[in-house]
Amino acid sequence: MIPVVMPTYSRIDVVFERGEGCFLYDTTGRRFLDFTSGIAVNALGHAHPYLVEKLTEQAHKLWHTSNLFRVAGQEKLAGRLKELTFADTMFFTNSGVEAWECGVKLVRKYHYETGHPEKTRFIVAGGNFHGRTMTAIAASGQDKMVKGFGPLLDSFDRVAYDDVEAVKAAVTPQTAAILVEPILGEGGIRPASLGYLKALRAIADEHGLLLFFDEIQCGVGRTGKLFAYEWAGVTPDVMCIAKGIGGGFPLGACLATEKAAQGMVAGTHGSTFGGNPLAMAVGNAVLDVVLQPGFLDNVIAKGALLEGKLDDLVKRHPSVLDSVRGKGLILGLKCVVPAGDLVTALRDNGMLVVSAADNVIRILPPLIVGEAEINEAVAILDRTCAAL
Ligand code: PLP
Repeated sequence: MIPVVMPTYSRIDVVFERGEGCFLYDTTGRRFLDFTSGIAVNALGHAHPYLVEKLTEQAHKLWHTSNLFRVAGQEKLAGRLKELTFADTMFFTNSGVEAWECGVKLVRKYHYETGHPEKTRFIVAGGNFHGRTMTAIAASGQDKMVKGFGPLLDSFDRVAYDDVEAVKAAVTPQTAAILVEPILGEGGIRPASLGYLKALRAIADEHGLLLFFDEIQCGVGRTGKLFAYEWAGVTPDVMCIAKGIGGGFPLGACLATEKAAQGMVAGTHGSTFGGNPLAMAVGNAVLDVVLQPGFLDNVIAKGALLEGKLDDLVKRHPSVLDSVRGKGLILGLKCVVPAGDLVTALRDNGMLVVSAADNVIRILPPLIVGEAEINEAVAILDRTCAAL
Protein backbone atom coordinates (compact mmCIF):
# COMPACT_ATOMS: atom_id res chain seq x y z
CA MET A 1 0.00 0.00 0.00
CA ILE A 2 1.30 3.44 -0.88
CA PRO A 3 2.42 5.46 2.18
CA VAL A 4 0.08 8.33 3.07
CA VAL A 5 3.01 10.70 2.51
CA MET A 6 3.86 10.24 -1.17
CA PRO A 7 7.12 8.27 -1.23
CA THR A 8 9.14 10.66 -3.44
CA TYR A 9 11.94 10.62 -0.86
CA SER A 10 13.61 7.51 0.59
CA ARG A 11 13.18 8.77 4.10
CA ILE A 12 15.38 7.91 7.05
CA ASP A 13 13.49 6.33 9.92
CA VAL A 14 14.15 9.09 12.44
CA VAL A 15 11.55 11.59 13.67
CA PHE A 16 12.83 14.77 15.24
CA GLU A 17 10.92 16.37 18.04
CA ARG A 18 12.87 19.51 18.76
CA GLY A 19 16.01 21.40 17.91
CA GLU A 20 18.26 23.82 19.70
CA GLY A 21 21.23 25.58 18.13
CA CYS A 22 23.34 22.99 16.29
CA PHE A 23 21.49 20.02 17.80
CA LEU A 24 18.40 18.00 16.96
CA TYR A 25 16.62 15.61 19.34
CA ASP A 26 14.54 12.70 18.08
CA THR A 27 11.39 11.26 19.64
CA THR A 28 13.47 8.81 21.68
CA GLY A 29 15.48 11.69 23.14
CA ARG A 30 18.59 10.94 21.10
CA ARG A 31 20.77 13.96 20.35
CA PHE A 32 22.27 14.58 16.90
CA LEU A 33 24.84 17.17 15.88
CA ASP A 34 23.22 18.77 12.85
CA PHE A 35 25.83 19.57 10.21
CA THR A 36 23.12 19.51 7.55
CA SER A 37 21.12 22.55 8.67
CA GLY A 38 18.08 21.12 6.90
CA ILE A 39 20.12 21.28 3.66
CA ALA A 40 21.55 24.77 4.23
CA VAL A 41 18.27 26.18 5.55
CA ASN A 42 18.70 26.59 9.32
CA ALA A 43 21.35 29.27 8.90
CA LEU A 44 20.99 30.35 12.53
CA GLY A 45 20.50 26.84 13.89
CA HIS A 46 17.33 25.53 15.47
CA ALA A 47 14.93 27.61 17.56
CA HIS A 48 17.11 30.71 17.49
CA PRO A 49 15.57 32.85 20.27
CA TYR A 50 15.52 36.05 18.19
CA LEU A 51 13.79 34.36 15.23
CA VAL A 52 11.28 32.73 17.58
CA GLU A 53 10.60 36.11 19.15
CA LYS A 54 10.09 37.92 15.83
CA LEU A 55 7.96 35.12 14.36
CA THR A 56 5.78 34.96 17.46
CA GLU A 57 5.43 38.72 17.63
CA GLN A 58 4.24 38.75 14.00
CA ALA A 59 1.97 35.74 14.53
CA HIS A 60 0.08 37.69 17.16
CA LYS A 61 -0.46 40.59 14.74
CA LEU A 62 -1.01 39.47 11.15
CA TRP A 63 -0.38 36.34 9.07
CA HIS A 64 -1.64 36.97 5.58
CA THR A 65 -3.30 39.64 3.49
CA SER A 66 -2.52 38.52 -0.11
CA ASN A 67 -0.37 40.41 -2.54
CA LEU A 68 -3.30 42.57 -3.61
CA PHE A 69 -2.08 44.96 -0.91
CA ARG A 70 1.26 46.48 0.01
CA VAL A 71 3.08 44.36 2.57
CA ALA A 72 5.26 46.38 4.93
CA GLY A 73 7.66 43.52 5.67
CA GLN A 74 8.29 43.00 1.94
CA GLU A 75 9.14 46.64 1.41
CA LYS A 76 11.47 46.54 4.40
CA LEU A 77 13.31 43.35 3.38
CA ALA A 78 13.48 44.37 -0.30
CA GLY A 79 14.80 47.81 0.65
CA ARG A 80 17.52 46.24 2.76
CA LEU A 81 18.54 43.68 0.14
CA LYS A 82 18.60 46.43 -2.47
CA GLU A 83 21.10 48.34 -0.32
CA LEU A 84 23.19 45.20 0.19
CA THR A 85 23.30 43.82 -3.36
CA PHE A 86 23.31 44.64 -7.07
CA ALA A 87 19.52 44.44 -7.19
CA ASP A 88 16.96 47.21 -7.67
CA THR A 89 13.86 45.07 -7.28
CA MET A 90 12.76 41.63 -6.09
CA PHE A 91 9.88 39.16 -5.96
CA PHE A 92 9.29 37.03 -2.84
CA THR A 93 8.42 33.34 -3.01
CA ASN A 94 7.85 30.37 -0.72
CA SER A 95 10.67 28.20 -2.05
CA GLY A 96 13.87 28.14 -4.01
CA VAL A 97 12.53 26.80 -7.25
CA GLU A 98 9.78 29.41 -7.37
CA ALA A 99 12.41 32.13 -7.04
CA TRP A 100 14.45 30.45 -9.78
CA GLU A 101 11.45 30.08 -12.07
CA CYS A 102 10.59 33.75 -11.58
CA GLY A 103 14.10 34.52 -12.81
CA VAL A 104 13.64 32.30 -15.88
CA LYS A 105 10.41 34.13 -16.76
CA LEU A 106 12.06 37.49 -16.14
CA VAL A 107 14.90 36.66 -18.56
CA ARG A 108 12.46 35.64 -21.29
CA LYS A 109 10.40 38.76 -20.79
CA TYR A 110 13.45 41.03 -20.84
CA HIS A 111 14.51 39.91 -24.30
CA TYR A 112 10.93 39.99 -25.57
CA GLU A 113 10.48 43.57 -24.35
CA THR A 114 13.83 44.73 -25.69
CA GLY A 115 13.16 43.52 -29.21
CA HIS A 116 14.89 40.12 -29.11
CA PRO A 117 12.10 37.55 -28.86
CA GLU A 118 14.46 35.03 -30.48
CA LYS A 119 16.64 35.03 -27.35
CA THR A 120 14.97 32.26 -25.38
CA ARG A 121 17.69 29.76 -24.46
CA PHE A 122 19.72 29.37 -21.29
CA ILE A 123 23.28 28.14 -20.97
CA VAL A 124 23.38 26.09 -17.76
CA ALA A 125 26.02 24.02 -16.01
CA GLY A 126 26.27 20.26 -16.05
CA GLY A 127 25.58 18.99 -12.52
CA ASN A 128 23.23 21.89 -11.78
CA PHE A 129 20.32 21.58 -9.42
CA HIS A 130 17.69 24.29 -9.56
CA GLY A 131 14.68 22.44 -8.17
CA ARG A 132 11.91 20.11 -9.20
CA THR A 133 9.40 22.02 -11.33
CA MET A 134 9.05 20.96 -14.96
CA THR A 135 11.26 23.88 -15.98
CA ALA A 136 13.95 23.12 -13.41
CA ILE A 137 14.16 19.43 -14.24
CA ALA A 138 14.43 20.36 -17.91
CA ALA A 139 17.46 22.49 -16.95
CA SER A 140 19.00 19.58 -15.05
CA GLY A 141 18.55 17.02 -17.78
CA GLN A 142 19.49 14.33 -15.23
CA ASP A 143 17.95 11.07 -16.21
CA LYS A 144 16.67 10.13 -12.75
CA MET A 145 14.91 13.49 -12.46
CA VAL A 146 13.37 13.75 -15.91
CA LYS A 147 12.53 10.16 -16.85
CA GLY A 148 8.82 9.80 -17.46
CA PHE A 149 8.01 13.49 -17.11
CA GLY A 150 8.47 14.57 -20.71
CA PRO A 151 7.93 16.33 -22.99
CA LEU A 152 10.11 18.95 -21.32
CA LEU A 153 10.88 22.55 -22.17
CA ASP A 154 13.67 22.50 -24.74
CA SER A 155 15.44 25.71 -23.73
CA PHE A 156 18.59 24.66 -21.87
CA ASP A 157 22.08 24.14 -23.25
CA ARG A 158 24.21 22.33 -20.69
CA VAL A 159 27.98 22.79 -20.66
CA ALA A 160 30.70 21.62 -18.28
CA TYR A 161 30.83 23.61 -15.01
CA ASP A 162 33.70 26.02 -14.48
CA ASP A 163 34.67 25.87 -18.15
CA VAL A 164 34.74 29.31 -19.77
CA GLU A 165 35.55 28.04 -23.25
CA ALA A 166 32.56 25.68 -23.16
CA VAL A 167 30.27 28.63 -22.39
CA LYS A 168 31.77 30.71 -25.19
CA ALA A 169 31.27 27.86 -27.64
CA ALA A 170 27.65 27.40 -26.59
CA VAL A 171 26.51 31.00 -27.22
CA THR A 172 24.16 31.32 -30.21
CA PRO A 173 21.85 34.13 -31.41
CA GLN A 174 19.10 32.36 -29.41
CA THR A 175 20.97 32.53 -26.10
CA ALA A 176 19.16 34.65 -23.52
CA ALA A 177 21.16 34.09 -20.34
CA ILE A 178 23.98 32.26 -18.62
CA LEU A 179 22.62 30.64 -15.48
CA VAL A 180 24.94 29.09 -12.88
CA GLU A 181 25.40 28.36 -9.19
CA PRO A 182 28.55 30.19 -7.98
CA ILE A 183 29.19 27.03 -5.95
CA LEU A 184 27.66 23.86 -7.30
CA GLY A 185 25.62 22.52 -4.37
CA GLU A 186 23.83 19.23 -5.06
CA GLY A 187 26.38 18.79 -7.83
CA GLY A 188 29.08 18.11 -5.22
CA ILE A 189 30.11 21.41 -3.51
CA ARG A 190 32.28 22.66 -6.33
CA PRO A 191 33.25 26.31 -6.04
CA ALA A 192 33.89 27.89 -9.42
CA SER A 193 37.46 29.01 -9.97
CA LEU A 194 38.12 32.69 -9.31
CA GLY A 195 38.04 33.92 -12.88
CA TYR A 196 34.97 31.93 -13.98
CA LEU A 197 32.19 34.25 -12.85
CA LYS A 198 34.15 37.26 -14.10
CA ALA A 199 34.54 35.62 -17.49
CA LEU A 200 30.81 34.82 -17.58
CA ARG A 201 30.06 38.50 -16.92
CA ALA A 202 32.26 39.49 -19.84
CA ILE A 203 30.65 36.92 -22.18
CA ALA A 204 27.17 38.05 -21.15
CA ASP A 205 28.05 41.69 -21.79
CA GLU A 206 29.63 40.94 -25.13
CA HIS A 207 26.56 39.09 -26.42
CA GLY A 208 23.75 41.03 -24.74
CA LEU A 209 22.86 38.16 -22.39
CA LEU A 210 21.67 38.32 -18.81
CA LEU A 211 23.84 36.76 -16.12
CA PHE A 212 21.74 34.79 -13.65
CA PHE A 213 23.18 33.31 -10.43
CA ASP A 214 21.43 30.69 -8.33
CA GLU A 215 22.55 31.36 -4.74
CA ILE A 216 19.79 29.32 -3.15
CA GLN A 217 22.31 27.02 -1.44
CA CYS A 218 25.49 29.12 -1.27
CA GLY A 219 23.99 32.54 -0.45
CA VAL A 220 22.98 34.40 2.72
CA GLY A 221 26.29 34.32 4.54
CA ARG A 222 27.24 30.70 3.98
CA THR A 223 30.55 31.49 2.28
CA GLY A 224 31.40 34.28 4.73
CA LYS A 225 30.14 37.04 2.45
CA LEU A 226 26.45 37.84 2.32
CA PHE A 227 26.39 36.46 -1.23
CA ALA A 228 28.96 34.18 -2.87
CA TYR A 229 29.24 36.32 -6.01
CA GLU A 230 30.89 39.04 -3.90
CA TRP A 231 34.07 36.94 -3.79
CA ALA A 232 34.37 37.17 -7.57
CA GLY A 233 34.00 40.95 -7.75
CA VAL A 234 31.23 40.79 -10.34
CA THR A 235 27.49 41.24 -10.13
CA PRO A 236 24.76 39.31 -11.92
CA ASP A 237 21.61 40.79 -13.50
CA VAL A 238 19.37 38.26 -11.80
CA MET A 239 19.81 36.11 -8.69
CA CYS A 240 17.59 33.69 -6.83
CA ILE A 241 17.94 33.04 -3.12
CA ALA A 242 15.99 30.94 -0.59
CA LYS A 243 17.01 28.41 2.10
CA GLY A 244 19.09 30.48 4.59
CA ILE A 245 17.14 33.73 4.21
CA GLY A 246 14.13 32.09 5.90
CA GLY A 247 16.20 30.33 8.57
CA GLY A 248 13.67 27.46 8.35
CA PHE A 249 10.59 29.45 7.39
CA PRO A 250 9.64 28.94 3.71
CA LEU A 251 11.02 32.00 1.91
CA GLY A 252 12.77 32.73 -1.35
CA ALA A 253 13.35 35.74 -3.57
CA CYS A 254 14.24 36.59 -7.13
CA LEU A 255 16.42 39.70 -7.22
CA ALA A 256 17.13 41.69 -10.38
CA THR A 257 18.39 44.95 -11.74
CA GLU A 258 15.84 47.48 -12.92
CA LYS A 259 16.96 46.91 -16.51
CA ALA A 260 16.60 43.12 -16.35
CA ALA A 261 13.21 43.31 -14.63
CA GLN A 262 11.70 45.88 -16.98
CA GLY A 263 9.15 43.45 -18.40
CA MET A 264 7.83 42.26 -15.04
CA VAL A 265 4.85 44.58 -14.86
CA ALA A 266 1.47 43.99 -13.20
CA GLY A 267 -0.09 40.72 -14.28
CA THR A 268 3.12 39.01 -15.42
CA HIS A 269 3.82 37.04 -12.26
CA GLY A 270 2.34 36.32 -8.86
CA SER A 271 2.04 34.18 -5.75
CA THR A 272 -0.75 33.89 -3.21
CA PHE A 273 1.50 33.18 -0.26
CA GLY A 274 4.86 34.61 -1.39
CA GLY A 275 6.20 37.32 0.91
CA ASN A 276 3.52 36.93 3.56
CA PRO A 277 4.00 38.87 6.80
CA LEU A 278 5.22 35.83 8.78
CA ALA A 279 7.93 35.02 6.22
CA MET A 280 8.93 38.66 6.06
CA ALA A 281 9.25 38.93 9.83
CA VAL A 282 11.61 35.96 9.83
CA GLY A 283 13.54 37.07 6.75
CA ASN A 284 14.14 40.48 8.25
CA ALA A 285 15.16 38.87 11.55
CA VAL A 286 17.65 36.54 9.82
CA LEU A 287 19.18 39.58 8.14
CA ASP A 288 19.36 41.44 11.47
CA VAL A 289 21.52 38.65 12.87
CA VAL A 290 23.66 37.96 9.79
CA LEU A 291 24.45 41.67 9.46
CA GLN A 292 25.59 42.03 13.07
CA PRO A 293 29.21 43.23 13.17
CA GLY A 294 31.58 40.28 13.09
CA PHE A 295 28.97 37.65 12.14
CA LEU A 296 30.31 37.04 8.63
CA ASP A 297 33.93 37.28 9.79
CA ASN A 298 33.09 34.55 12.25
CA VAL A 299 31.71 32.38 9.44
CA ILE A 300 35.04 32.81 7.63
CA ALA A 301 37.00 32.00 10.79
CA LYS A 302 34.90 28.94 11.66
CA GLY A 303 34.99 27.79 8.04
CA ALA A 304 38.80 28.00 8.00
CA LEU A 305 39.04 26.17 11.32
CA LEU A 306 36.72 23.39 10.14
CA GLU A 307 38.37 23.11 6.74
CA GLY A 308 41.81 22.79 8.35
CA LYS A 309 40.59 20.03 10.65
CA LEU A 310 38.89 18.24 7.74
CA ASP A 311 42.16 18.43 5.80
CA ASP A 312 43.89 16.70 8.73
CA LEU A 313 41.21 14.01 8.71
CA VAL A 314 41.77 13.40 5.00
CA LYS A 315 45.48 12.84 5.77
CA ARG A 316 44.66 10.51 8.67
CA HIS A 317 42.10 8.44 6.74
CA PRO A 318 43.23 8.25 3.10
CA SER A 319 41.35 5.02 2.53
CA VAL A 320 38.05 6.73 3.46
CA LEU A 321 38.43 10.40 2.52
CA ASP A 322 39.89 11.90 -0.61
CA SER A 323 39.80 15.71 -0.29
CA VAL A 324 38.03 18.78 1.07
CA ARG A 325 36.48 21.56 -1.00
CA GLY A 326 34.16 24.51 -0.58
CA LYS A 327 34.23 27.93 0.97
CA GLY A 328 33.30 29.20 4.43
CA LEU A 329 30.70 26.88 5.89
CA ILE A 330 29.66 25.19 2.66
CA LEU A 331 32.19 22.38 2.59
CA GLY A 332 32.34 19.06 0.80
CA LEU A 333 34.31 15.96 1.69
CA LYS A 334 35.01 13.84 -1.34
CA CYS A 335 35.02 10.23 -0.22
CA VAL A 336 36.91 7.14 -1.26
CA VAL A 337 34.28 4.85 0.25
CA PRO A 338 30.67 5.32 -0.95
CA ALA A 339 29.53 8.68 0.49
CA GLY A 340 26.19 7.17 1.45
CA ASP A 341 27.94 4.63 3.73
CA LEU A 342 29.75 7.41 5.56
CA VAL A 343 26.52 9.44 5.93
CA THR A 344 24.82 6.43 7.53
CA ALA A 345 27.75 5.61 9.81
CA LEU A 346 28.00 9.23 10.94
CA ARG A 347 24.29 9.29 11.73
CA ASP A 348 24.67 6.11 13.76
CA ASN A 349 27.36 7.98 15.69
CA GLY A 350 25.15 11.03 16.28
CA MET A 351 26.11 13.40 13.47
CA LEU A 352 24.01 14.47 10.50
CA VAL A 353 25.44 15.27 7.07
CA VAL A 354 23.97 14.92 3.61
CA SER A 355 25.53 13.52 0.48
CA ALA A 356 25.87 15.19 -2.92
CA ALA A 357 26.89 14.13 -6.40
CA ASP A 358 30.50 13.13 -7.15
CA ASN A 359 30.67 10.92 -4.04
CA VAL A 360 30.78 13.91 -1.71
CA ILE A 361 29.33 14.48 1.73
CA ARG A 362 28.20 18.03 2.38
CA ILE A 363 29.21 19.71 5.61
CA LEU A 364 26.70 22.53 6.16
CA PRO A 365 26.65 23.46 9.84
CA PRO A 366 24.49 26.32 11.07
CA LEU A 367 26.39 29.59 10.62
CA ILE A 368 26.35 30.07 14.38
CA VAL A 369 28.46 26.93 14.88
CA GLY A 370 31.02 27.20 17.68
CA GLU A 371 34.45 25.69 18.22
CA ALA A 372 33.08 23.10 20.62
CA GLU A 373 30.64 21.77 17.99
CA ILE A 374 33.36 21.77 15.35
CA ASN A 375 35.58 19.73 17.66
CA GLU A 376 32.73 17.33 18.39
CA ALA A 377 32.04 16.91 14.65
CA VAL A 378 35.71 16.24 13.90
CA ALA A 379 35.90 13.71 16.74
CA ILE A 380 32.83 11.87 15.42
CA LEU A 381 34.22 11.92 11.88
CA ASP A 382 37.59 10.65 13.11
CA ARG A 383 35.99 7.79 15.06
CA THR A 384 33.66 6.91 12.21
CA CYS A 385 36.35 6.93 9.52
CA ALA A 386 38.61 4.77 11.73
CA ALA A 387 35.86 2.15 11.99
CA LEU A 388 35.01 2.01 8.27
N1 PLP B 1 18.75 25.80 -6.41
C1 PLP B 1 19.70 25.27 -5.63
C2 PLP B 1 21.13 25.64 -5.84
C3 PLP B 1 19.34 24.37 -4.62
O1 PLP B 1 20.30 23.83 -3.85
C4 PLP B 1 17.98 24.05 -4.43
C5 PLP B 1 17.58 23.08 -3.39
O2 PLP B 1 18.32 22.28 -2.93
C6 PLP B 1 17.04 24.64 -5.27
C7 PLP B 1 17.45 25.51 -6.25
C8 PLP B 1 15.57 24.34 -5.10
O3 PLP B 1 15.07 24.89 -3.93
P1 PLP B 1 13.69 24.38 -3.32
O4 PLP B 1 13.87 22.95 -2.95
O5 PLP B 1 13.44 25.28 -2.14
O6 PLP B 1 12.65 24.55 -4.37
